Amino acid sequence: MSDVFDKCRSWKDYRIAKAAGLYPYFRSIEASHGATEVEIEGRRVIMVGSNNYLGLSADPRVKEAAVRAVEKFGTTCSGSRLLNGTLALHEELEARLAKFLNRESALVISTGFQTNLALSAILGRHDIVFSDRQNHASLVDGIRLGFATERKYRHNDLEHLEQLLAAAEPNAGKIIVTDGVFSMEGDLCNLPRLVELAKRYNARLMTDDAHSMGVLGTHGRGVSEYFGLEAETDLVMGTFSKSFASLGGVLAGPFEVINYMRHKARPVIFSASMTPASVAAALKSLEIIEAEPERRARLLDIAEKMHNGFRAMGFDTGVSVTPVVPVHIGDQVKCFRFWKALHEAGVFANPVIPPAVEAGHALIRTSYMATHTDAQLDQVLDTFEKIGRRLNVIPETRPTVYE
Ligand code: PMP
Repeated sequence: MSDVFDKCRSWKDYRIAKAAGLYPYFRSIEASHGATEVEIEGRRVIMVGSNNYLGLSADPRVKEAAVRAVEKFGTTCSGSRLLNGTLALHEELEARLAKFLNRESALVISTGFQTNLALSAILGRHDIVFSDRQNHASLVDGIRLGFATERKYRHNDLEHLEQLLAAAEPNAGKIIVTDGVFSMEGDLCNLPRLVELAKRYNARLMTDDAHSMGVLGTHGRGVSEYFGLEAETDLVMGTFSKSFASLGGVLAGPFEVINYMRHKARPVIFSASMTPASVAAALKSLEIIEAEPERRARLLDIAEKMHNGFRAMGFDTGVSVTPVVPVHIGDQVKCFRFWKALHEAGVFANPVIPPAVEAGHALIRTSYMATHTDAQLDQVLDTFEKIGRRLNVIPETRPTVYE
């Protein structure tokens, strides 16, 4: 007779990684020093493994806003938005976000993950969703929870997408869903071509702007602003756990669609609303994102510095143009060894292995904050260079660059 717990007992990966001293997950952070450095096992390490892109989690104004909200409203709303969990603060955040994102309406939801799950509310039995194979897990699950048929296209392969669109039932409701910036490798979706295809095949278009809101576009409105295609993108999703230094997510788009989701999406109506502290922190961060574009400029300068720095050493950083800078390693075990050496040398970065990336494409994901200092960044580069040489990821000497 089988037991549903059997799979847990026979799961070896965890034990093997632990025994080899190569287990990189759930590292416990004991203290934070301005977010760019944290303490682990009593040691200070430079944090280049966080999505706190603008460094606002350590901003005194954001912290104070969160504290004030707790004092005014307490620690939780203890209920869903639909019933007792809507504060004036939630409504203020929604109104401000709708204005910021140039959309008729915005809906805030308790986490970014749940925000993508809420997409399921509009995916009916006769609809078809076209989804990039590398879309974030929360989009994958949001689609799975809906009733629509799913058609996955190869990552950023829009010829493949077009074939799928052309083969689909012409009268079915259609929506194309894509990450704006892909979370593991930092590459962008090809929005201009997606818009073209959406128009040609009468499909709606949604972007997940988790990694681009607050980061890309002149005003930080994300990937559609970056490409100058805001009006052509029907639905936009964002999270507050990254540039907004908080926890929660937002869906923005036409009033009727957002209003329908507000009343029908199960992650909204059956889950407690964002806490007062989270809403207040997101609101204050939004204010700072609007008022201080220099943070975005600094972040993008840092991203360029790191890309160039890694490439000059001979590392492969792929096609990212964002503050997510992947350092490709390839082999999974080597990736874990690289991670461990970084950890011991005082750099916190994340190893990424399948299924988050394809087999044989393991990488160290680094990501930056506008508040990193040049000294910290140079130390990170220096550490990567030493380890990369030692582990034969890069050549013994720097490659010659021909101008
Ligand atoms: N979408 C993307 C592209 C993400 O990378 C993430 C989280 N890393 C999410 C959605 C979920 O957001 P959250 O962690 O804020 O719940």
